[in-house]
Amino acid sequence: MKPIYVTKSSMPPYEDFIERIKPLWETHHLTNMGTYHKELEEKLARFLDVPEMSLMSSGHMSLELTLQAFDFPEGSEIITTPFTFISTTHAIIRNRLIPIFCDVKDTDGTMDETKIEQLITPKTVAILPVHVYGNICNVEKIAEIAARHDLRVIYDAAHAFGEETEIGNAATFGDASVFSFHATKVFHTIEGGAVVCKTHELYDKLYNLKNFGIRGEETVVSVGANAKMNELSAIMGLCNLERFSETIEKRRKVRDTYDAYLLNRKSIHVLRGSNITQQNYGYYPVILENQSQRDAVYAAMRKNDIYVRKYFYPLTSDEICFRGKYKNADIPVARSLSERVLTLPIYEEMTEDELSRVISVLKDCRLL
Ligand SMILES: *Cc1c(COP(=O)(O)O)cnc(C)c1O
Repeated sequence: MKPIYVTKSSMPPYEDFIERIKPLWETHHLTNMGTYHKELEEKLARFLDVPEMSLMSSGHMSLELTLQAFDFPEGSEIITTPFTFISTTHAIIRNRLIPIFCDVKDTDGTMDETKIEQLITPKTVAILPVHVYGNICNVEKIAEIAARHDLRVIYDAAHAFGEETEIGNAATFGDASVFSFHATKVFHTIEGGAVVCKTHELYDKLYNLKNFGIRGEETVVSVGANAKMNELSAIMGLCNLERFSETIEKRRKVRDTYDAYLLNRKSIHVLRGSNITQQNYGYYPVILENQSQRDAVYAAMRKNDIYVRKYFYPLTSDEICFRGKYKNADIPVARSLSERVLTLPIYEEMTEDELSRVISVLKDCRLL
């Protein structure tokens, strides 16, 4: 049997990509903020209706450099979530900042805004929530808390590209929002990422940080890294942006099939927020009754060559690279979700046959 993975990168039509990269053989201009880099930055800003976007080599570097751009004093505390991909936490620690883990809500897995204020200390400088699985945080409450305590808000929006809520699109919240355009994300540039910049000052700072601070042949104005998006990636992005609505539509059909089987069940709960008016259907997370049941379903899927994932388990705060440093964080809901969660396969080209294989394993496990 052919294996089914949790995701499969979207591919634009081969001819489309090949046609568009042809001019590079004339220009030999492969990177350093070229024509396509510029075009994608502009098109994305227009698509998301935001003032400016800064394209980067990855979502992770986007997060890391955005935190750096805010110039927080070393050792400052960032209130964040452990129920996320490890990148979120690494970005904080690699900036010599301290992650303070806030619990999440069992309804949708996003940061529990009622538990933020008790974590604020004189050292707190920012909140870094995650729109996990594309479930959008309670951005209004978080903005209120941030304003009351003069904190910045940076959203890890890696899962939320193209999503809309009743109060605006997912790119527009906080002081900055960061996207990942990794090959496994709904919209991708092979590797890549971007930061939504509300001010031109942030855009400028990020420009320096992603390009060694170089502003002229003989002028380096600040210390920076290399996190530029290359032209091939930008072209992949242009191809994928044009077909984004098609991608979403195909994913929606897969989501609808799952929903028909999985919604309103007793022993399996779909982890989905209620405040979203346009989803991107990037993930299909389900919560089982307990860890042993979760692990049993995982094993049954494996036996059938279906590679569901335990995203996000373990919690980032529990990872061995932190050697128990954050073990005492008061995060019972995050812990419980992480022990019971499975993300089911969902991707643009998922066939009905593949879907029925996943469903039939769930039936074998007596969940449906
Ligand atoms: C994918 C992802 C990142 C990192 O993005 P890369 O492009 O892989 O560097 C960060 N945060 C979350 C929540 C992610 O899912």
